Amino acid sequence: TSHTLIAGNWKMNGLLSSLDEARAIAEGSSDSVVKIAVFPPFTLLHAMSEALGPDSHILLGGQDCHHEDNGAYTGDVSAAQLLDAGARMVLLGHSERRHGHKEACELVALKARAAVKAGLEPLICVGETLEQRKEGLTHAVLSKQLRDSLPDDLIGKAFHVSYEPVWAIGTGMIATDDQIIDAFALIRRVISERFGDEFKPHLLYGGSVKPDNAAEVLRLEGVGGALVGGASLKAADFLKIIHSAP
Ligand code: 13P
Repeated sequence: TSHTLIAGNWKMNGLLSSLDEARAIAEGSSDSVVKIAVFPPFTLLHAMSEALGPDSHILLGGQDCHHEDNGAYTGDVSAAQLLDAGARMVLLGHSERRHGHKEACELVALKARAAVKAGLEPLICVGETLEQRKEGLTHAVLSKQLRDSLPDDLIGKAFHVSYEPVWAIGTGMIATDDQIIDAFALIRRVISERFGDEFKPHLLYGGSVKPDNAAEVLRLEGVGGALVGGASLKAADFLKIIHSAP
């Protein structure tokens, strides 16, 4: 995992007509050494996988999964179904799931267990709210989220963590260099204490990463990539971010 990982989270955006953007991302990044992932909505996963082809350098992922293998869970999608549709990765614990769907860390951990069991690489998100930051709780919140959202099942498995301060998501207000460096030092320490030094997951930053600020974020100490929301929807913007990776 020495390369930078640039991941695009499309959230609830994109129709079949958006597959052209995915093709353009693939074509425009074919000479890049950066590891690239796209997390389309469930409805586009299989079509995107077909559009990019079996040997594509673009990794695909789901934006969430259920923690059970199958059963009576209306509206949910299992890890095995994601894999079947062409996904290799899955986003878990995104703040829009934690806050919009009241997902607790313990549920995120169960989902991560299901993901690795099915053979998916989880990309688990953590991040504090503005209130928590103002109250000086950032380190406590991140430590707790990491402790409780990452199950022991991840030991020895490929997984990734994204630091996404909630107040920086979709606001255009990116965290400062110092805030990112500080959070990453903590995250790196908590993960290496728990999972050992030999396995180094990609640690990503997410929250208002744009073509004009990506280079600065990506060269910060410890930052192994970016999780990009809005700016991943247009191939031209996402490619600029990919090409600004060191
Ligand atoms: P924005 O890049 O739109 O701020 O979204 C970040 C994010 O939530 C990625 O998962």
